[in-house]
Amino acid sequence: MKIVLASNNAGKLAELQAMLAPLGMDLVRQADLGIGEAEEPFRTFVENALAKARHASLMSGLPALADDAGLCVDAFGGLPGVDTAFYATQFGYEKSDDNNVRALLEQMRDVDNRRAAMVSTLVALRSADDPEPLIAVGRVVGEITRERRGTGGFGFDPVMFISEFGQTFAELPPAMKNAHSHRGRAAARMVELMRAHWLA
Ligand code: IMP
Repeated sequence: MKIVLASNNAGKLAELQAMLAPLGMDLVRQADLGIGEAEEPFRTFVENALAKARHASLMSGLPALADDAGLCVDAFGGLPGVDTAFYATQFGYEKSDDNNVRALLEQMRDVDNRRAAMVSTLVALRSADDPEPLIAVGRVVGEITRERRGTGGFGFDPVMFISEFGQTFAELPPAMKNAHSHRGRAAARMVELMRAHWLA
């Protein structure tokens, strides 16, 4: 079964492709089908992922898979959430991973509750009209450190301390991070849902 991925991120494609291959699913990027990106106007991950999947399915006539992800900080009521990628721009910085980390450390300077979750929500649709989307959420809870630690990974990895490993994501070997990441957990759950609902 061919399924279109509503993301143009090569890393995500490779990761998801590897997980879906055993189900006989062939993932193609929407850009490779000439499909542009959908709007993401909503305040929740699930709504944005659904909008992206629906757009990709409508434009391609194929089943579609989309994700939306971000950082949810307890002390900020779960924000930045859907605004995570642009977090630094709220404070006058250019959009970048490095500035996101800088802004987060600044905003949390006087905050004692350091708990935060990286959250990934995947939505899959058989068609644009599918009334029963598959929704898989993966989250990993950590503590935001007071300074960067480690050089691996990307995004918030250098400040995302995972207590069960005693290290930040940026200090963990990549295979270990991927196996325990929000994205890996959401993808594993989505594979289960597809097996049970689409392939049974
Ligand atoms: P995306 O939607 O998955 O591209 O990510 C949204 C935001 O979360 C971006 O600012 C990413 O840098 C950040 N992010 C996503 N995945 C990770 C991760 O595994 N570690 C750290 N930051 C991440």
